[in-house]
Amino acid sequence: KETIHKLCSGQVIVDLATSAKELLENSLDAGATSIDIKMRDSGLTSITVTDNGHGISPEDYETLCRKHWTSKITSFEDLDGVTTFGFRGEALSSLCAVASVTITTATRDSAPMGMSLEFDQNGELVGRTAVARERGTTVVVSGLFARWPVRLADLKKNSRREYTRLVGLVEQYSIICDGVRITLSNQTARGAPVVSVRTPPQSDRLTRLLGAFGAQLRPHLVHFEFKAENVSLEGHFSRPEGGRNGSDKQYFFVNGRPCDLPKAKKLVNELFRGYCPHKYPVFAIAVEVKGSVDVNLTPDKREVLIRCEESVLLGLKDALVRVLEPDMN
Ligand code: ADP
Ligand code: MG
Repeated sequence: KETIHKLCSGQVIVDLATSAKELLENSLDAGATSIDIKMRDSGLTSITVTDNGHGISPEDYETLCRKHWTSKITSFEDLDGVTTFGFRGEALSSLCAVASVTITTATRDSAPMGMSLEFDQNGELVGRTAVARERGTTVVVSGLFARWPVRLADLKKNSRREYTRLVGLVEQYSIICDGVRITLSNQTARGAPVVSVRTPPQSDRLTRLLGAFGAQLRPHLVHFEFKAENVSLEGHFSRPEGGRNGSDKQYFFVNGRPCDLPKAKKLVNELFRGYCPHKYPVFAIAVEVKGSVDVNLTPDKREVLIRCEESVLLGLKDALVRVLEPDMN
């Protein structure tokens, strides 16, 4: 009860990109090594996420989509050490409220048989059918906002932009999640599906980065590391001559979690601007901080509270100046 109350954000998922991102996080939390995200009409028709993770056990079928039900933490204290992407038990229940949700799943014990589960808008299990399936889970979300014409119209207007945002989000997970094969594709009424993200199998960090940033950036990417007492930074960014026109492709990860660090982003761009006024660097910077990080600030968990943010900023500045002014060292 206490946990539920403290975590209640009161907000539900309202966009295509976050919906798909939540399903991706669930697959990662289930230990999947292969995850396929298939969008139909940028997700307006359906979002299908298939994984080869541990699946869902029969005793969880009933509660799975209920509000605030999660298998991942059991007490508020657990939050400090949370290692999963999800922990609030909100994604599936809020998706049920605004769309049709079907989940097909099999565990190691049940495979090659699994169960296809259907849920109503309150997240209650209303149908189950035995099906053949390998270990893993497939979640299909269709008809998002079909019952809300005004929101649906909004969604339609933004669907292409949302899809672009999703590509960026999925790229971030594909960079940080070593050993996981992730694909994202979109199928529209006309033509073959367009593949937007495909992580090369068994690739190292740099290969996956180039997959996201474009292979032409290879000669411009610089690797850096920084270590202080509570903070360590490690990553790649492009030198001024490899700058881009936009500030997309700027990715931060805090303790393995893709997230937004507005102050750090601003700092990097300002420093960079001194060398190359109209360009932005690409970067993927992994921040490891000791002690807890609060990711429970926003419904999409993108913003984090780092207690030693100042050290992160100092470390970043130090590392960047070293790369931008190699002669000074
Ligand atoms: P949370 O991720 O915060 O726990 P969700 O609403 O996203 O909440 O998911 C609810 C629960 O459903 C999870 O705690 C997990 O037990 C189960 N679940 C969801 N997706 C999957 C999946 N792809 N594989 C295995 N279990 C899943
Ligand atoms: Mg989740």
